[in-house]
Amino acid sequence: MVPGLKKICAWCGDSVAEGDPGDGVPGERVSHGICPTCAHSLDLQIQSVVDMHQLTHEEHDQLPFGVIEVDGEGVILGYNDWESRFTTFAKDRVMGRNFFTEVAPCTAVRSFLGEFEEMVASGRPDRRELDYTFELPTGQREVHIILTWQPEPGWGFILVREATT
Ligand SMILES: [Zn+2]
Repeated sequence: MVPGLKKICAWCGDSVAEGDPGDGVPGERVSHGICPTCAHSLDLQIQSVVDMHQLTHEEHDQLPFGVIEVDGEGVILGYNDWESRFTTFAKDRVMGRNFFTEVAPCTAVRSFLGEFEEMVASGRPDRRELDYTFELPTGQREVHIILTWQPEPGWGFILVREATT
């Protein structure tokens, strides 16, 4: 375990179970994982994830929700199988392109791109949560979105789950 590493669940914002009580000093490294409660509610085959960044793209493909890895400009570094099935966009069509301006221009608005830009500009690890309606080739889909940002090494995740009614 990395000393001083604060572990936050990307989905619910709670501490991931094994965090130290002394964690969370501002400016220290924060990882975004998945806590045991969310792992259970997401029906994951794993109990919890300490850091999404430590998973390989192949492991992202095993997750039952959308995982889009982006740099600070929104350029797509990773796009998992679930997201590719959900949007019908082939991975090789979206990798290296800008999520907000090229791939999903419906998100280039204050309530989505604006939130992401705010996180990046803050220079701090951060996490935001929002409900959104994607405009997909197959029609409108209600989604629940988690945005995470890590200034070090300089990328974040857009996590996508279909909204439950
Ligand atoms: Zn959680």
